[in-house]
Amino acid sequence: MNQFETCDNREELERQYKYLELLKKVVADLKELKNRDITACVETFGCQMNARDSEKISGILKSAGFKVIEDENADLTIYNTCSVRDNANQKVYGRLGRLSTFKKQNPDMKVVLCGCMTQEECVIEKLCTSYGFVDLIFGTHNIYRFAEYLFYVYEGIENKEFDDSDANLYKKGNTIISHWSETKVICENLPIDRKYPYKSGVNIMFGCNNFCTYCIVPYVRGRERSREADEIIKEIENLVKDGVIEVMLLGQNVNSYGKNLENPISFAELLRRVEKIEGLERIRFMTSHPKDLSDELIEVIKNSKKICHHIHLPLQSGSSRILKKMNRVYDKEKYLDLALKIRREIPDISITTDIIVGFPCETKEDVDDTIDVIKKVGFDNAFTFIYSKRTGTPAAEMPQVSEEFVKEQFDRVLKCVQETAREQVVKIEGQTLPVLVEEVNKQDESLLTGRLENNTIVHFKGSEDLIGKIVNVKCLECKGFYYFGEMI
Ligand code: SF4
Repeated sequence: MNQFETCDNREELERQYKYLELLKKVVADLKELKNRDITACVETFGCQMNARDSEKISGILKSAGFKVIEDENADLTIYNTCSVRDNANQKVYGRLGRLSTFKKQNPDMKVVLCGCMTQEECVIEKLCTSYGFVDLIFGTHNIYRFAEYLFYVYEGIENKEFDDSDANLYKKGNTIISHWSETKVICENLPIDRKYPYKSGVNIMFGCNNFCTYCIVPYVRGRERSREADEIIKEIENLVKDGVIEVMLLGQNVNSYGKNLENPISFAELLRRVEKIEGLERIRFMTSHPKDLSDELIEVIKNSKKICHHIHLPLQSGSSRILKKMNRVYDKEKYLDLALKIRREIPDISITTDIIVGFPCETKEDVDDTIDVIKKVGFDNAFTFIYSKRTGTPAAEMPQVSEEFVKEQFDRVLKCVQETAREQVVKIEGQTLPVLVEEVNKQDESLLTGRLENNTIVHFKGSEDLIGKIVNVKCLECKGFYYFGEMI
């Protein structure tokens, strides 16, 4: 396929391919000079969006001729960072200490930081002041320019090759920086190094307009920008030609997909179009904001043979009082109505969620409400987080609750989530269900590991050549969140 055949922004794309050619020459020269492979390592922190971005970074690196390895002591190491929780930031600073030791041993080593954390100006300042050995910093909006930036790391910022190079690019000490606070540009279709040959994430939109008061995403990923449906369809068709049978449509809030397009289209309509792609067998999506989940979408999922019966529907809190403080735009009753309607319409669906414990002003009565919702919905699983104060968000200015209180409440919530999850997962014991075989089991190589449509993991005996195929497995032994089964 010609790389410009599917293209969200041809001009930008063509320019980046020119930089990729220049970068190839740089890497080839280095290889010749050192008489060995030039290695690169990409370390990903955070969510599915970041994992997808890392596939893009790795795709550029491989196309440029780097040997991508998993050892951080490489010729080039990239941290694709996350800033959703404060301890994610602290983790990165801690890990940078190790990289500085590697760099002392190998002064030619290059260190790159990108992702959500480096969208924050205070982080860039801290990196420049205390981690001057970092060679390149860029954010989430300009990731498609990675080949261009990396070329400057090796050849110098003064060697701008084309007149329309990034105007925001500058150098502070030894560090090259490009910080974009916003963008309207969508530039996909650069090389991608997919982790799995048979399944792939597909970005359908970027950014978020919701400004939940605890969340930093709208500040670091910008406002909502949807890709044209035609571009998404073409990308998936090409993935299918390449052997992909399952796609995960990705966006911070997929239910508001298409609203900002010149010719608006709903997420439900996009799903109808994706479903028609021949050869595609499974469709997943992530994440859904409860305020935008329409009856039309429930209908489409219910009537589809390809859309997996799994919805991730973040609750965050079951207390209407806290939900209001969070700016979630729904209350306890609305959430319950929606979740129970989904369960009624699609009885075999699994509903998973995110819950925050310890949000400012939260009381035991608020947590009681959360537990009430967990019991009434009967979540199949929940990611339970302790509230993390993020500077710059409105919630950071609200009265915080004590650590002791949070710990107690967190344990209550976790216990309840584990109970409901177990109640849900045992319901399928004895059933034979289709499983997409994902990999050889990491602990026991005689087993394969796969995923049911509802996202439950199943381990069973089988040969490696089944990886990437859908097979029927009888779910025999429930182990809490996963099953041991037998292929039928
Ligand atoms: S919907 Fe709320 S929590 Fe989700 S990304 Fe947007 S602001 Fe953050």
